Amino acid sequence: MAKKITVIGAGIVGIATACYLKRDGHQVTVVDMRPPGEYCSFGNAGILSPGSCVPQSMPGILAKVPGYLADPLGPLTVRWRYLPRALPWLARFIAAGRRERVERAADALRALLRQTFDAYAPLVRDAGCADLIRRTGYVVVYETGRSYRGDALAWKLRRERGIALEELDAAGIGRLVPALAKIYEKGVYLPEQGYVANPERLTKSLAAQFQKDGGTVLQREVLDIGLRDGAVHALETGGGSLPVETLVVCAGVHSGELTAKLGEPVPIEAERGYHVTFSDPALELPMPVSVADAKFFVTPMEMGLRIAGQAEFAGIYAEPDYARADVLARHLQRMLPGVRMADSTKWMGRRPAMPDSLPVISASAKHRNVYYAFGHGHVGLCGGAPTGRIIADLVSGRRPSIDVAPFRVDRF
Ligand SMILES: Cc1cc2nc3c(=O)[nH]c(=O)nc-3n(C[C@H](O)[C@H](O)[C@H](O)COP(=O)(O)OP(=O)(O)OC[C@H]3O[C@@H](n4cnc5c(N)ncnc54)[C@H](O)[C@@H]3O)c2cc1C
Repeated sequence: MAKKITVIGAGIVGIATACYLKRDGHQVTVVDMRPPGEYCSFGNAGILSPGSCVPQSMPGILAKVPGYLADPLGPLTVRWRYLPRALPWLARFIAAGRRERVERAADALRALLRQTFDAYAPLVRDAGCADLIRRTGYVVVYETGRSYRGDALAWKLRRERGIALEELDAAGIGRLVPALAKIYEKGVYLPEQGYVANPERLTKSLAAQFQKDGGTVLQREVLDIGLRDGAVHALETGGGSLPVETLVVCAGVHSGELTAKLGEPVPIEAERGYHVTFSDPALELPMPVSVADAKFFVTPMEMGLRIAGQAEFAGIYAEPDYARADVLARHLQRMLPGVRMADSTKWMGRRPAMPDSLPVISASAKHRNVYYAFGHGHVGLCGGAPTGRIIADLVSGRRPSIDVAPFRVDRF
């Protein structure tokens, strides 16, 4: 039966969810104070990785943190004033790095993300933007055999879950990506992965098609949520009250503020990342490249070469610190000596990060007409379309194709 559904959030998760709900014949309205795709989904590294099954917190993570923090070019920063507020989340994050929990999280992520290309295919075909999806594979490189061996568990987790991997020596890396500096001793090519050549255009194209198909996008901020008799009945927005029959919360890192209003608090943190995009890099990469130790990706986008990475804990609302983007640019210079760095733009985005690296994809445990889809952290682009398809299944009363228990909102 067709329902009236309101989706909060026009990032990739909200728009992909709206598209799948629309395909089921529901009447769907997306509410966001920004135009589609202009928050975290705007500037990510574009990686579409059905093999991204390795959670962020791994055994031994705590021992690595001091080294990361001490290195001015390191991948992690914490604003010390924010540390007391981040501590409870960080404690959960470290606890999630226990071996048996890592194995379970890897299974859940693999089940969700292995559908990435398949779930995007009908959406990009209908929206006329299939050209954005590039199935080139990507390569991960290491400067030393020692640092490669340090990641042995991560590669084992992927191998055990059937992800195709090809080990490379220095010569193999050079053959695959000739522009790279000859400083990498070990590498791994993952042929079944890919990327989106412009994440902003992807979300905007899907949103445009959603509207052509009769969906509505309203540019309003949701300020409060009206509850009555175990259900949501209205959203209070900057533009007045909106009646609600069924609600899906896809508000990225702000979802925690909304679930708190619904009496279902979740531990969600802004894991802030940066990018620099060089519009005229004077070289071409045949595929994305990740430098494992510094934890960044360089992706050949349609608008230039983008380097994206960094994890900064400073809360949702602190001003960006573009020194973190400059760190990325310095890494790029070392990695690609021939790169032209004249014209560039910098950006900061807030990954909606859960401490166990698993998103929330779930019916509310408290309200009969509420669903949640948020908290995808590092894999929100990969997870957007698979999540949308699962939410459409849940809303329409179909059994999702995977076990959704690991993604429950009340698992904390
Ligand atoms: C540097 C960096 C690199 C990344 N690289 C990758 C990658 O390669 N691959 C990958 O899969 N993922 C990557 N990610 C992660 C990915 O970008 C995110 O997981 C994803 O964009 C989250 O999408 P979302 O739709 O949940 O959130 P968002 O894109 O943040 O959308 C949430 C929307 O909700 C709206 N909203 C919030 N509160 C309200 C309110 N009260 N009222 C109305 N609207 C509201 C916001 O305006 C926003 O538009 C990266 C992230 C960063 C920062």
